[in-house]
Amino acid sequence: MKTINDFNFKNRKALVRVDFNVPLDKNFQVADKSRIEGAKPTIIKIMEDGGSAILMSHLGRPEGKEEKYSLNHVKAAVSDVLGVKVKFVEDCVGKKAEEAAADLKPGEILLLENLRYYAEEKKGEEAFAEKLSKLGDVYVNDAFGTAHRAHASTTIIAKFFADKAMGYLLQKEIESLDKVLNSTEKPVTAVLGGAKVSSKLTVIENILPKVDHLIIGGGMAFTFIKAQGGKIGESLVEDDLQDMALDIIKKAEEQNVKIHLPVDSVVTQEFDNDAETRIEDIHAISEGWMGLDAGPKSRENFSKVIAESKIILWNGPLGVFEMDTFSRGTIALAEAIAEATKKGAFSLVGGGDSVSAAKKFGFDTKVSYVSTGGGAMLEMLEGKSLPGIDALN
Ligand code: AMP
Repeated sequence: MKTINDFNFKNRKALVRVDFNVPLDKNFQVADKSRIEGAKPTIIKIMEDGGSAILMSHLGRPEGKEEKYSLNHVKAAVSDVLGVKVKFVEDCVGKKAEEAAADLKPGEILLLENLRYYAEEKKGEEAFAEKLSKLGDVYVNDAFGTAHRAHASTTIIAKFFADKAMGYLLQKEIESLDKVLNSTEKPVTAVLGGAKVSSKLTVIENILPKVDHLIIGGGMAFTFIKAQGGKIGESLVEDDLQDMALDIIKKAEEQNVKIHLPVDSVVTQEFDNDAETRIEDIHAISEGWMGLDAGPKSRENFSKVIAESKIILWNGPLGVFEMDTFSRGTIALAEAIAEATKKGAFSLVGGGDSVSAAKKFGFDTKVSYVSTGGGAMLEMLEGKSLPGIDALN
């Protein structure tokens, strides 16, 4: 598969699918520029080669042409991050867009209006993709966050270009995951947390042959504990998955993968930051009480495993980290991963909630790589190929 390093963009017009689906504050200012920064190296390479870049993205979930989802709100932040003036055109297809793209001079940047102002985008309509394709002569996909969707601008469009490539961000995402899943260095440790086993089952099955240690925490741990005969009180559980949990434990044993479950839990009677808490053995939680975070002994055990790991993958918080009272397990894990990274381990954080947790507690800069795509990362961890990436072949 080609990357943009295989191209010289001199005098060429690159149509770049970026992920500028950024959060806006109440004054329509960009509240977090990390997605724009993520696309910066690709755009800079095109400009420095002497080419021009036409940037296309979606923003939110507009129903028709809703002004609040206009990419015009994002233009100033893009200019700011790139350090150059950015042009904007109030459509993404048709005469206006085509004229604006045709007028672009080498080194100039044009931002198109929200792709999702057209329902054809999400439907992956070919005619719409073809209209978009008229705007540039090389197609670059750098939107990892939507690479798992077969939308017009992320996938269908590729067939209209002879010259197509992945941008640096997409490349980095794929390489980071490859470093984890096909590592020659050992031990490899995956930490899976979050609410439900059901949403991570395929991930567990796919990564089991590729890891040495699997730490299972968060709400999903209780299904395993109950399946082993533990008393879990009112903790989150998926009863129909207990057999599956035992099966995973058995498969792990057969494949020499060590599974680490919490041994104690921060329990409470109410789902409330100010509720009374105590620490209980995870196999003997009192009736009426539920576990919302990893207890101190579990944190210590997990940290020891992390400290010995060379490759670490983290997906999903170890507790209800949104509430301070139940965030200590997740913070302790993030600290251990940061420490291991400092000592030379490679760490990848992926999946929506672990990324927000890492950011919330200031650990996003202390790990090796933070994935920019929650859903796309999960699908890759499940072993699926992503249509946006396949289309570049
Ligand atoms: P997921 O989207 O499956 O990764 O789940 C993330 C959510 O799991 C977060 O909102 C956490 O608050 C929640 N979570 C983590 N641990 C627990 C727990 N022990 N009980 C209930 N929810 C939890």
